Amino acid sequence: MSSHRRYRLRLPGPSAVPERVVRAMSQPVLNHRGPEFRAVLSEATSLLRPLFGTAGDAMFFASSGTGVMEASVANVVASGERALVIANGQWGERYAAIAKAFGADVDRLDVPWGMAPDPSEVAQRARAHRYRAVLVTHNESSTGVTANLEALGAALRDLDTLLIVDAVSGLGGAEIRQDEWSLDIVVAASQKALMCPPGVGIASVSSKAWDVIERDDRAPRFYLDFRKARHGTTQGETPFTPAVTLLTGLREALLMISEETPSAVVARHAHLARGLRKGAEALGLAGFADPTHASPTVTALTVPDEVDGAALVKHLYRVYGTVVAGSRNKLAGRVIRIGTMGHVDEGDVLVDLLHLGAALRDLGADVEPAAGVAEAARVFAASMGDEAPILQEHPEL
Ligand SMILES: *Cc1c(COP(=O)(O)O)cnc(C)c1O
Repeated sequence: MSSHRRYRLRLPGPSAVPERVVRAMSQPVLNHRGPEFRAVLSEATSLLRPLFGTAGDAMFFASSGTGVMEASVANVVASGERALVIANGQWGERYAAIAKAFGADVDRLDVPWGMAPDPSEVAQRARAHRYRAVLVTHNESSTGVTANLEALGAALRDLDTLLIVDAVSGLGGAEIRQDEWSLDIVVAASQKALMCPPGVGIASVSSKAWDVIERDDRAPRFYLDFRKARHGTTQGETPFTPAVTLLTGLREALLMISEETPSAVVARHAHLARGLRKGAEALGLAGFADPTHASPTVTALTVPDEVDGAALVKHLYRVYGTVVAGSRNKLAGRVIRIGTMGHVDEGDVLVDLLHLGAALRDLGADVEPAAGVAEAARVFAASMGDEAPILQEHPEL
């Protein structure tokens, strides 16, 4: 068998880290309060602005995504205050658990898994109850669904309620316009579409949210206190020792995004996810998400009845070196998830589909193993040649 034993990381995070980012991190650790690192922080901050769609300064934490999810609650919701959690998957459940842990009076808007929240329903609830905050998952990685943040922001814009967004698996792969869409807190992390190793949490905060955060009667907070982090930002520092090496990698990843341009990056994610969905469908794996809200960064696929999803995931890894995710919830065994986040191109998706087709055949499914590749290639070919030649900057060629 000719499959190279390359380790092909296609999880819904952590995602594959490009060589260029790895190299940027292969250098001596910098003084976290010295000029070189100040430059790293300041550049990363400005390169993040177009991704968040804000004129503000993002704050960096040495944490996984859950750390900044927790920060977004602890800095806003005081014990006993009401919060509405939109629960349409596993990450919504996590937000509900965090809000409960901080003593919030948690109300839930349960949405069937695979569906996106209905903004008018959120608007109605928010008008009826005076929530301190509405917590929403931008991109539900358990179901492959992207929420309509623009409409949710519009629904809450004129209320005192803050809109808090877990964009951990979306930012950098799906469009976000924090300022224009009135998103009050947006949190993200390094290891998804931002193409870095895990370990940096990022938060971006609106002025409406700062008014609430600045109050002293919020939940207890120290390490994740946004007030401390904001003060650090004004000094070109972080209040505590940051993940210096990871942030050096993050700057490099953000430079790559900037060179490709953020809008082209967003378009590439949508294009790749579409090819993957169509290819998987041709192999008999239907998309789990409502197609009108299908995620550009995570594709959730329902496996055929005769195939065990967990066995499929294991086989893809053991035999083909392609690392995808199963489900760790009520969808276990039935839904697998494949990331198209960050450093991924058409070739990667075609090989993913080749491996998926072969694995299904190996496990006894009645499929034509190359059907997925053929279908995705058709999708990709249809829009190829639309773009400017990639060598236009080298006219001598
Ligand atoms: C990955 C992810 C997180 C963060 O998870 P950590 O393991 O804490 O980094 C949060 N929300 C969503 C939607 C995610 O996909």
